[in-house]
Amino acid sequence: MPVALLPPVTGGSHRFPDAVPLTEGPRFVRGPRSGRWHRPRAAVRYPGRLVWALWCGPHLFDTEQVPVLRSDETPADGPVCGTCVGRALGAGQDETPTGLGELVFSPRWQEPPRRCPGSRAWDMFDRPDTAHGSVGACLACGDLVAVRSMGGPWNPYAAPIEHVPGPGLVSACPFHAWQHIRRRPDGRAGCVCGWHDEAPAGGDGR
Ligand SMILES: [Zn+2]
Ligand SMILES: [Zn+2]
Ligand SMILES: [Zn+2]
Repeated sequence: MPVALLPPVTGGSHRFPDAVPLTEGPRFVRGPRSGRWHRPRAAVRYPGRLVWALWCGPHLFDTEQVPVLRSDETPADGPVCGTCVGRALGAGQDETPTGLGELVFSPRWQEPPRRCPGSRAWDMFDRPDTAHGSVGACLACGDLVAVRSMGGPWNPYAAPIEHVPGPGLVSACPFHAWQHIRRRPDGRAGCVCGWHDEAPAGGDGR
């Protein structure tokens, strides 16, 4: 049985036009030069190749000429990367075998953020007609939040205070989760890579 993969969040906010993130994959992968089996955290399909992001950090390039081995079962032939297994189980990608105890690994981008991406951003709120001056509707989560003046004497601006995201939080970008949510040209909140801009109206999970 395959397991669920996470969004391939990296430090950057770029996105290749023909890239498609996979939402599930095998439990274990092994490249032609890997000395051990690893567990995939994320995968992105590009024209002509698949790129596996491993829990332990590196990426494996999977092409027709140089294919990556896959296994849904614990591989019998050779060692398994301990970092990958520990992180995958700790992050909840798989059930932890009995006897191992509770494992915890929390990639910072995995869960919806504790701090709403609309927090403290000057262009991330709208003023509802009915609201008075110190309240705004957060563009990222839709909640009514307090708006305060921020910045110094040389760059004063008004912005929503830091807050936990409301239930209307914009859906996660499949590439960058909530790492790069800003006001988009259409006036809605979305990832700077443009993924939300292209999502069909009403069909993007908002
Ligand atoms: Zn590994
Ligand atoms: Zn918000
Ligand atoms: Zn994105």
